[in-house]
Amino acid sequence: MKSNPKEREIGERLAGAHRVAVATHVNPDGDGLGSVAGLSLFLERLGKVVYPCIPRLNELPPQYSYLPGREKIGTCGEPGEPPEVFVALDCSNLERLESLAPIARASGILINVDHHEDNTEYGDINLVDERASSTAELVFRVFRANGWEIDPAVATCLYTGLFTDTGRFQHPNTTPEAFRIAYELALAGAEVSRVAREVYQNQSLSYVHLLGLVLERARLSREVGLVYSTISQEDLRATGASLSEAEDLVDYLRTVRGGKVVALLKELEDGRVRVSLRSRDDLPVGPIARELGGGGHAMAAGYTTEKNLDGALRELISILARLAGHQVPGAEGGEEDR
Ligand code: AMP
Ligand code: MN
Ligand code: MN
Repeated sequence: MKSNPKEREIGERLAGAHRVAVATHVNPDGDGLGSVAGLSLFLERLGKVVYPCIPRLNELPPQYSYLPGREKIGTCGEPGEPPEVFVALDCSNLERLESLAPIARASGILINVDHHEDNTEYGDINLVDERASSTAELVFRVFRANGWEIDPAVATCLYTGLFTDTGRFQHPNTTPEAFRIAYELALAGAEVSRVAREVYQNQSLSYVHLLGLVLERARLSREVGLVYSTISQEDLRATGASLSEAEDLVDYLRTVRGGKVVALLKELEDGRVRVSLRSRDDLPVGPIARELGGGGHAMAAGYTTEKNLDGALRELISILARLAGHQVPGAEGGEEDR
């Protein structure tokens, strides 16, 4: 079998190591966490010392609590003792690993498995395929290329990545291959109905109240084709919700007809603003996010700005106006629908 040489090389490196760190990006999502959980579980069963890790431990979204091994997610090994192998999953560049980046650099081998088009190929081994629906799909390939068993728990983890990154099999990355792998994972015992319930039907009442605020203040700026809404720190205090619960709220704005781009602007504790962008049309949002210091895919991207909510909105609108080839309306100006 000569196919999938990178997948097999990754398998060999992992099989030969004793201490392995498995990490994903800051503001982790279902793809990053599902991929970390699935690979970590398997490596533990191989008898490795595994360190599943994320940059900010307090930002673990509660809806992924069902992932097996979640309670083991912590720091990347003992201080001063970098892991032999560091696997970065769903992470387009080293900066997205924040505090974990020095550990990744200091490790014996750095393996980068990702599907972002703007991946910087920072690893010693880079398994990067932007055609893959999700990083979980690539991890699945590593399992299959090495003949590793996918048990029901691992299948549930990888299915989580596939299911969430395709927007429940709705986004354009919902390829025949994504369905084929979903089928294989279901066959291997993935709890498909449970994943849907845990991720999308298991919110706090605070979350629903925050959703209410986000929907009520949604606006459509027809002039630049933008549907947007905001979340302030005050909203979080008023509802009792946290930003890590609010990751998928932007998708509700996607339902509004008439916009090309959807944005949810979220005020962080330190006053900066994190902007989640989604495409509703053919206008790719990745380049817009990159221009503003972030990154991402054509359909989903994001960035963080030093500006406040109003300033961030004006900045975004002016970029969209330039792309649309006309002058900037004020954030409150232009034609707006309620
Ligand atoms: P989010 O809206 O935070 O869910 O981000 C959507 C996607 O955009 C993420 O899955 C990442 O692929 C990408 N992304 C978000 N923020 C950044 C950033 N600061 N730098 C690079 N990529 C980002
Ligand atoms: Mn991700
Ligand atoms: Mn992903």
